[in-house]
Amino acid sequence: MSLRRSTTSLTYDLAWASARLGVAFLPAILFPSWITWTLTVLLVLGVVFLIVAAFAYAYVAACPGCGGTVQGLSLKIDCVGHQCDHCKRFVEVDGGRLVLTPPDRASDVPSFGVLLRGSPGELPAICCTCGAPSTRTRALAVAGVSLDIPHCDSHDPSARLRKTAGRVRLEAASLRFAQALGERDGLDIVGSGPYSDAPARVPWISALAGIALTGLGFVIVRQELPSKQLLAGVAAGAGAFVLMHFVVGAGFLVRRRLVRD
Ligand SMILES: [Zn+2]
Ligand SMILES: [Zn+2]
Repeated sequence: MSLRRSTTSLTYDLAWASARLGVAFLPAILFPSWITWTLTVLLVLGVVFLIVAAFAYAYVAACPGCGGTVQGLSLKIDCVGHQCDHCKRFVEVDGGRLVLTPPDRASDVPSFGVLLRGSPGELPAICCTCGAPSTRTRALAVAGVSLDIPHCDSHDPSARLRKTAGRVRLEAASLRFAQALGERDGLDIVGSGPYSDAPARVPWISALAGIALTGLGFVIVRQELPSKQLLAGVAAGAGAFVLMHFVVGAGFLVRRRLVRD
């Protein structure tokens, strides 16, 4: 299953980056001040990073498990932790070809995720770093979920908890560990590819909040206030941030529908 460059993928990502650039420049264009320009520069830097990533991850290949197209692949890195959207199996790049990830794979970083539902309690007695039987645990906590992460005598725990798209996700370096937890509790296993953070639904609330805050900027600028331009800039800047959240979230979901090859 050799990798090929996808023009559709790259075109979409560049269009998506342009939409984000538009949002980044919005506060500075509407209410120019040092505050809005600083903010715009910060937001633009984020977009530049994404444009670089769009070129790096513009490759696709047929999934060796189900034949469906796997996107967001790169020729330069091994892509361990990337997941097929269709059959949910893990894949990786080996010598320019896409192969199924062996079940005993231990990644350099926490690449294999499990979407938690509340606290899972005691975790499988498997080292989250290498997949061998665990001998001890270390506490880890985020967003109200605290866990005792199992690891072995030879390894520190290579795991992290993070909240993304409203769900808490436990990511580990060992595929065996992630799979054991997922199977035991009937939890979804998620990958760590560039498009794996898609929200469950379009964040319309962010779009509305962004528009409202930008509108507030226009209201402020009409008042008899000292430094009203700066205040309006702060409102529009906050608006740009939530609007960006909308563009990013919606972009993930539209990408899934539009980019198929
Ligand atoms: Zn597949
Ligand atoms: Zn270990």
